Amino acid sequence: MLDVVDIGDRSIDAYRGVAPDEQLDELVRVARQLRGARILHLNATSYGGGVSEILRACVPLLKDLGLRAEWKIIRGDDAFFQITKRLHNGLQGAPGELSESEKALYLGNAQLNAPHLAEDYDFVIVHDPQPAAIPGLVHRDGSRWVWRCHIDTSHPNPAIWDFLTPYLRVYDAAVFTLESFIPPRFPIRRIAILPPAIDPLSPKNLALPPKLARHILEWIGVRLDRPLVTQVSRFDKWKDPLGVVAAYRLVRQRIPNLQLALVSSMALDDPEAWDIYETVRAETAQDRLIHVFTNLVGVGNVEVNAFQSLSDVVIQKSLREGFGLVVSEALWKGTPVVAGRVGGIPMQMPPGTGGILVDSVEECADALLHLLRHPQVAHTLGQSGRERVRQHFLMPRLLLDELRLLETLAT
Ligand code: UDP
Repeated sequence: MLDVVDIGDRSIDAYRGVAPDEQLDELVRVARQLRGARILHLNATSYGGGVSEILRACVPLLKDLGLRAEWKIIRGDDAFFQITKRLHNGLQGAPGELSESEKALYLGNAQLNAPHLAEDYDFVIVHDPQPAAIPGLVHRDGSRWVWRCHIDTSHPNPAIWDFLTPYLRVYDAAVFTLESFIPPRFPIRRIAILPPAIDPLSPKNLALPPKLARHILEWIGVRLDRPLVTQVSRFDKWKDPLGVVAAYRLVRQRIPNLQLALVSSMALDDPEAWDIYETVRAETAQDRLIHVFTNLVGVGNVEVNAFQSLSDVVIQKSLREGFGLVVSEALWKGTPVVAGRVGGIPMQMPPGTGGILVDSVEECADALLHLLRHPQVAHTLGQSGRERVRQHFLMPRLLLDELRLLETLAT
């Protein structure tokens, strides 16, 4: 059996007054055309990372809009997720190849999971490379299959890309975050470009009363009488946690009481995170102004919300990034962001909006120092970032784009 993720009920009407009205009106109209359609979202983990974050918000709203939506998780063991993490890294350009036995293991996992997808769906949306081989192994019976790629695949490692491509040929459509992410010789003809979005009403993003937010952070050991910068990210080399520490240390030379929080959640499908976590701990253990928190010590959505709301600046020093949900989450709270100029981030923070884009540890340190020393500049950037999120990166816009795509596939 595949794991069905239990999700609550949500109402699209609750987004009135939060997301733009015209998006909501259009969403309701398009959803009416698809009323009763069965949609399955299929991915590899129910927590940790952006995909699960999006599905947790979007599947209940699809149901409220009259579609029969479900979210399922493929099964996989540690060996499988070691391989899929290498696929993930390779798709983002990291070197390396899979051995014949690893390729067989990847396919074997699809063979194990595919029989459990025998039900009839009108649309199946498969997220990222982990479950990508499944549709070639199921009886499709008129259903439409979409491959949703969340990562920056503009320059994939050719060995990894050649391995994955044959599995993609059977899809009816693909979705990328940016046009430039479409890899060379892409085998799916119909392609939609849909940037992800955040849920403004989730516990992570709703407006926390400032007093409560302060209480939460003080309770877990962060001092709010000192400046604070934070990066919220899985422990992943592409998120460059050691680069964040290096930039922070440069700023500390000028602002000695500055605190850094590294907040991370360990995802089910990310076995590399443990090694990186150990490395970060070893690097920071002696420094009482650096706080490292994970979901394993109970730092979850509400705490992340408090960090993103109360930090003076949020950092996202990514080296690769399809779309940084965390960037939009921080901006939604009006907090300015210093972020790597990579992947989808420049779309999230166009010039003069939201914060400062950087290309190195030194630039990151300079940008942090600038924003910490000029709170008015920081405030104005944060507010412009919030408005950009409101217009472009809230969940109703993403749902609207997705349903429009499904509507075209249905005909
Ligand atoms: N996240 C979290 N707790 C953490 C670290 C990350 O809840 O300690 C969430 C974060 O708030 C965001 C998602 O995980 O919603 C990460 O998405 P993003 O697109 O930034 O990166 P990904 O992990 O998908 O590469």
